[in-house]
Amino acid sequence: MNIIIMGPPGAGKGTQAEKMTKDFALLHISTGDIFRNAVKEGTEMGKKAKEYMDKGLLVPDEIVVGIVKERLSRPDSKEGLLLDGFPRTVEQAEALDKVMQELELKINAVISVDVNEEELISRLTARRVCRNCGANFNLKYNPPKVRNICDHCSGELYHRDDDTIDTVKERLDIYNKQTLPMIEYYRQKNLYFSVDGAQQINQVYAAIKAYLEKLKNK
Ligand code: AMP
Repeated sequence: MNIIIMGPPGAGKGTQAEKMTKDFALLHISTGDIFRNAVKEGTEMGKKAKEYMDKGLLVPDEIVVGIVKERLSRPDSKEGLLLDGFPRTVEQAEALDKVMQELELKINAVISVDVNEEELISRLTARRVCRNCGANFNLKYNPPKVRNICDHCSGELYHRDDDTIDTVKERLDIYNKQTLPMIEYYRQKNLYFSVDGAQQINQVYAAIKAYLEKLKNK
């Protein structure tokens, strides 16, 4: 199964993606994680991406599409994928279709986790991410057991540079203008499934899991 998970920043995509990859043995490809790793490693691509990320802007398509294409061309991408944070525009969705076709792969579903803006802003400013394994926590809804320490790997938790109030507003604006039109693209292909992300983490996941199980047994 090849799945896309989408949703505005702070909807809980990363948390749901972690659960989905475990239960359905999917390879998790998060373009945001790829960029954050490149920034951490100080690569040329990372330096370029950081200029956009810090402002809450989208990294240009020629960089993102190239990275995804390279990643999907590796043999381990044949076993089932979870694309997280890509595609983010109709143009990226079209580019993905082309890459998938070349690789003889196809998208089986697009799951959208939806949450209203007020809630998103409150969540994002309370989000903490593990510097080591990338796991997401939230000081309000999903706090770590020990302050600033990851429950999974004991790595240090940090507040993302792009989770400040101004950048969050910019990212939400971009989501509304550039990513929302993508819904229509996938709806027309009959691949779109929306889940209410304002519910508890486990309730959101129960809805996603039920949907994926049905899809798997089709
Ligand atoms: P995320 O972790 O998915 O919220 O991504 C963090 C940041 O990485 C975004 O705000 C963008 O600057 C950049 N980024 C991630 N995925 C993409 C993409 N598909 N297209 C353009 N920029 C992206």
